[in-house]
Amino acid sequence: MISKSMSPRVENSSAIRAMFEEGLRMARIVGPENVYDFSLGNPNVPAPPEVNQAIIDVVKTEDPIKLHGYMVNSGFDETRQAVADDLNDRYGTKYGISNIVMSTGAAMCMNIIFRCILDIDDEVIVSAPYFVDYTNYVSNWHGKLEVLPANPEGGFMPRMDELEKRINKKTKAVIINNPNNPTGVIYPESVIKEIAAILEKKQKELGTVIYLIADEPYRELVYDGTQVPHIPDYYDNALVCYSYSKSLSLAGERIGYVVVPDRSDQAEQFKIALGIANRISGAINAPSLIQLALARCLRTKVDIDFYKRNGQDLYEALTDAGFDCLKPQGAFYLWMKSPDADEKAFVEALKEEHILVTPGSAFAGPGYVRFSYCVAHETIERATPGFKRIGQKYFH
Ligand code: PLP
Repeated sequence: MISKSMSPRVENSSAIRAMFEEGLRMARIVGPENVYDFSLGNPNVPAPPEVNQAIIDVVKTEDPIKLHGYMVNSGFDETRQAVADDLNDRYGTKYGISNIVMSTGAAMCMNIIFRCILDIDDEVIVSAPYFVDYTNYVSNWHGKLEVLPANPEGGFMPRMDELEKRINKKTKAVIINNPNNPTGVIYPESVIKEIAAILEKKQKELGTVIYLIADEPYRELVYDGTQVPHIPDYYDNALVCYSYSKSLSLAGERIGYVVVPDRSDQAEQFKIALGIANRISGAINAPSLIQLALARCLRTKVDIDFYKRNGQDLYEALTDAGFDCLKPQGAFYLWMKSPDADEKAFVEALKEEHILVTPGSAFAGPGYVRFSYCVAHETIERATPGFKRIGQKYFH
């Protein structure tokens, strides 16, 4: 029998499937080119050609036993060294192989961290709206996700007063996701400094260790020249989760890493613990073929200008139609205020124009909707008359 904790997730998954099926149903009636699906965050810019070439080269030249066998649970030395070199060149750090633990994407990076730091009922804090699977990653390891209320007046930056209030003896970590899914904002250095100061203060006050987990699968997807702050520069007990799902469009390959800076608490044990967590969580290790390929090409990037243009044009189309949107700074999401307090009713109204978006309540952000703009540019152009008609309906 399916467990009590799993059953609600099965029901929720039928809601997501219902949305997907609704899209297919619409496509059958009006043709797929007339359905404008902004609901999925699946990268649509192809991986750079260097990635495929590296895979071919690896298959042709590597010893097949090494290529297809087990390795150290934390990953191949050459891949971890290539990651460390890349970070050192960009951030002036001195990471070595031991600071990098490869895993199967940001999702598993977070899972193995929680496996290492959480005991039953320990707490992890995040600010709303947030990537919904954090709840699952934390509850997988018997922790509780504590959600700070959203801060629309403050540009959706975390509410510092609430953060300070919520931290207690059970708080093991705070997650920051920069650039952010679903809001598309980037937390600037000043915000990171404030968070770091609160955590330092609370660690001293409570005599505990509170990790700052930087979930950064969108780190390279930045559009206005803003730098995403390198979190370990601001706080000692920082852990960084990165993934190549978005920066190299390799979401299906399942590859990313955790950075454990030497200054973080029990760093030496932690590096070992993460490798063990990879094994006992069932991932065992990150896939070997893509690890070896990455070691040869990880400094390449997808065509980020494609997302930048989509973000700008979608923002213009929606604001021209009268909607109140946050200007996208990073990731490939646009966060928009619903003109109907019940954003689910607004999502239904958009469907009449064959426009599919995700209701903000799916991210603990009711009253808003999320557009994913990893779509063909044509989708934005073709949806624009529909945005105007819906705008007229609500604002005139
Ligand atoms: N964190 C955030 C904020 C995400 O949006 C996603 C995926 O969309 C993930 C983590 C998981 O990414 P990955 O494919 O690297 O596991």
